[in-house]
Amino acid sequence: MDLSEYYGRRVLVDQPEWRRAKPAPPVEVLPTMARHGQMIRCLRCGQETACRVAALPNDEFYCPRCINLGRVATLNKFYHVPEPNQFTVTSPVLTWTGQLSPLQEEAANTVDAGMTAHRHQLLWAVTGAGKTEMMFRGIAHALARGERLAVASPRVDVCLELYPRLQTAFQNTSLVLLHGRQELPYHYAQLTVCTTHQLLRFYHAFDNLIIDEVDAFPFAANDALLFASRQAVKKAGGCLYLTATPGSALLRQVRRGHLAVSYLPLRYHGHLLPRIHLHLAPGWRRRLQRGHLPASLLSQLRQSLADGYRFLLFVPHVADLAVVGSILRTALPRHPFTTVHAADPDRLAKVQGMRNGKYDFLVTTTILERGVTFPEIDVFVLGADEPVFSSSALVQIAGRAGRSLSRPTGTVGFWIAGQCRRVRSAVRQVDFMNRKGRALKR
Ligand SMILES: [Zn+2]
Repeated sequence: MDLSEYYGRRVLVDQPEWRRAKPAPPVEVLPTMARHGQMIRCLRCGQETACRVAALPNDEFYCPRCINLGRVATLNKFYHVPEPNQFTVTSPVLTWTGQLSPLQEEAANTVDAGMTAHRHQLLWAVTGAGKTEMMFRGIAHALARGERLAVASPRVDVCLELYPRLQTAFQNTSLVLLHGRQELPYHYAQLTVCTTHQLLRFYHAFDNLIIDEVDAFPFAANDALLFASRQAVKKAGGCLYLTATPGSALLRQVRRGHLAVSYLPLRYHGHLLPRIHLHLAPGWRRRLQRGHLPASLLSQLRQSLADGYRFLLFVPHVADLAVVGSILRTALPRHPFTTVHAADPDRLAKVQGMRNGKYDFLVTTTILERGVTFPEIDVFVLGADEPVFSSSALVQIAGRAGRSLSRPTGTVGFWIAGQCRRVRSAVRQVDFMNRKGRALKR
């Protein structure tokens, strides 16, 4: 193993020959676990486990929490080399030649200033604001300063989408992509793109860490990953959280003054988010079992199609797809459509079919809430008040509408059996950003 593989990381593999080398490389040996009474705490993931659960023979212990990264046990040590920032900077660092809108320009400067000062900051940008491009300037300046950076996301699909875009934007920089499903070996690089889970392998490595889609499951709910992001960054390093839907934990940090926040309330085309319209449909599920959709939903779907607009109809559960599908086949016989869900083997082909115009609409579960963009569509949710839709998922779903310049508006309707906190919070977030957006447009 090359010494550079230990830079800013904690590796479980010892290299005894290095101790005989002269001069000896600066390898630090660190403990892996700490015992407090009947609990054992893992120093990689920060989680505590009861000793009787984590026990190995001979009074040794392991961590069951982060075992999918390789077993950490009291039998091991961490071997670590403090991050030396051993990079050669080749100009131009930024090889992206696109243009930012004046508002994006302003946000890019805020991000850049925060990264230069190594601040902990939150950029709250609406869906479809173009936030990836807005971080390019900050990243470019940091790379030019010789900093080590990581762009992490809780979701593999976000990483897979970001990696080629960053490769194109920073062609003269060494990059590495890390996620659990991949077999490629690790190598030392100035810019790391990884899942937030992979951050557990790093220790005081990054001068700046960017976490994209920070609200996405499972990060929001997972203390271990928050712990990972904190310790992956150098002590004096900066952290930028990017999100369209900050959860309560982040907003609490903002209120306490631990996190600076900046807003980008307008989309790249300069328009507001479409408002969410609520429709009360008490007992819709009972009626659905008898073969009926809410009349107001059906007439809205007919209206959209008559106006020449395609749409996405979200339903809470995979089991709802067949029922809703069969009702719509009868109700809208002239309109081609299909249903799709996360485990659907034809998922990609169906999404592509919607893109190509093969379908007038898709009936789907929450899988299409992020990342998928169809121009000029309307967006409807049946049963938006069901627990499967978090408030951040609802904001993301609503954000599928109005993304193209050719139709920057769109109709967004939620059908609910009753009022609920998650729906109210989604509506409030959209209205809040629109108020900020309106103030900017004045
Ligand atoms: Zn652990």
